[in-house]
Amino acid sequence: MTNYDIIVVGAGTGGTVTSAALANKGFKVALMDRKPKEKIGIKVCGDATSTDHFRRIKDVINIKPPHGDEIRQYVKGAWLISPDQKVKFELIEENTTGVLIDRFKLGMRMLEDAINYGAEFHENSMVKEPIIQKDQVIGVKYRGSDNNLHEMTARVIVDASGIGAVLRTKLDPEKTFMDINLQDKDVCNCYREVRDLETEIESPGFIRIKFDQELCPGGYLWEFPRGPNSMNAGLGVMRINQLNPHQQFNLYLKRKEKLYRNSKVIHGGAWRVPLRRPQDNLVWNGFVLVGDAGTQVKPTDGGGIGISIQAGAMAGKAITNALEYDDVSIKSLWPYNVEFMAKIASVNAPLALMKDFVIPLPSSVINHIFHKKIVEGDELLYGNASGQVSEGILKLLQRAWRGRRILGTLLKFRTVLNKMSQARDLYNSFPESPDDFMIWRATIKNLYGEN
Ligand SMILES: Cc1cc2nc3c(=O)[nH]c(=O)nc-3n(C[C@H](O)[C@H](O)[C@H](O)COP(=O)(O)OP(=O)(O)OC[C@H]3O[C@@H](n4cnc5c(N)ncnc54)[C@H](O)[C@@H]3O)c2cc1C
Repeated sequence: MTNYDIIVVGAGTGGTVTSAALANKGFKVALMDRKPKEKIGIKVCGDATSTDHFRRIKDVINIKPPHGDEIRQYVKGAWLISPDQKVKFELIEENTTGVLIDRFKLGMRMLEDAINYGAEFHENSMVKEPIIQKDQVIGVKYRGSDNNLHEMTARVIVDASGIGAVLRTKLDPEKTFMDINLQDKDVCNCYREVRDLETEIESPGFIRIKFDQELCPGGYLWEFPRGPNSMNAGLGVMRINQLNPHQQFNLYLKRKEKLYRNSKVIHGGAWRVPLRRPQDNLVWNGFVLVGDAGTQVKPTDGGGIGISIQAGAMAGKAITNALEYDDVSIKSLWPYNVEFMAKIASVNAPLALMKDFVIPLPSSVINHIFHKKIVEGDELLYGNASGQVSEGILKLLQRAWRGRRILGTLLKFRTVLNKMSQARDLYNSFPESPDDFMIWRATIKNLYGEN
């Protein structure tokens, strides 16, 4: 006998959708979070997403897209700005509704949705570790609001606890095929502030992304307008560079005194985002990973809200089937892997190779790429959305001519594009059963230089 059918650890966007999808099927769901209810939804984040993600999960669970005052600003497009600030690419993605959300309001409403579908919310519950019996996760140990240690059991346990991945990091990697620690090159340390401004922001429908390898090596600086007089601004530096993102951000503020003069800090804080391919395996016996806990983030821009929402719905589907067959083994939960790898990882995971290529480039080379339009704005947009970069012969010659000063870099870029295409093929042929997984994993690790 277990206490619940499913325990979901973490009431972020991934955990709330997973909980709603399963509670809606009539399962007994415990949704646990270390925070008190009134703080759910507060997260250090750029808050940019699209309403499309919510439409994509409609066949599994109906969660209303952000609407009303959950939307701070509709996003028309993005400005990508060169390190020397002299060139700006304007990217406009058609057929998508970009929004800058009020993260707190949306987070609170998504929690209410999960509760209304029937999930039981356990606030102030700090999960400490999984309970494992005979190679199966059967529950969690947690410190409750009474400050005592407790145990709770369920047939399936979902780790949706964000980048800390409190359960994944305590499992045996040899048995689960999940990475326990993230490499320093794959973690971006960020600092972000929300500020209300006295100054009017020019074209608030455009989010701004600035590259500067001195200020934020490997990462980028963002300024996302939350309307004409409010800004979500921050920057990320790769952990490998050991810089303090708060200090780096303060250096930036000094440069932008005019814009931020007399502004009021509404919220400031630091957090981390994983920038790598998803975990090679997202399930084990009685166990499932969703969202940042599964490193399911777009490696080039750190976008993970939409992915965690879609992953939550996919996990919900696979867990429902497993529970209906009364078999929660890795084999039975495997279809979640297959669906996620084909639909999402095949696009996003190759971008981790691109990220590893771009990170060490000096600002001078990035400036050259912008100035000479060696990669153009629409190619960047298409590449980030599809994980592919067009490489017709004409394009190739044009790129080589415009970029002749950095030919060595371009040749390396060609190698990266080849590897990205191999990665895409591998994710599209993810094994249908765990029996064939080891060969696949060895190949993927080799491609990503991990052997
Ligand atoms: C600075 C920054 C900027 C970003 N900007 C964007 C952006 O503009 N657009 C975008 O799409 N993505 C962005 N992301 C990524 C995005 O925030 C995440 O990918 C997304 O929120 C993942 O959701 P999640 O549900 O997996 O995890 P989270 O939202 O992190 O939720 C995890 C939950 O688990 C709870 N928890 C953690 N540990 C425990 C524990 N031990 N016990 C109980 N509960 C626990 C936490 O309290 C939290 O509520 C950004 C990330 C950062 C850090």
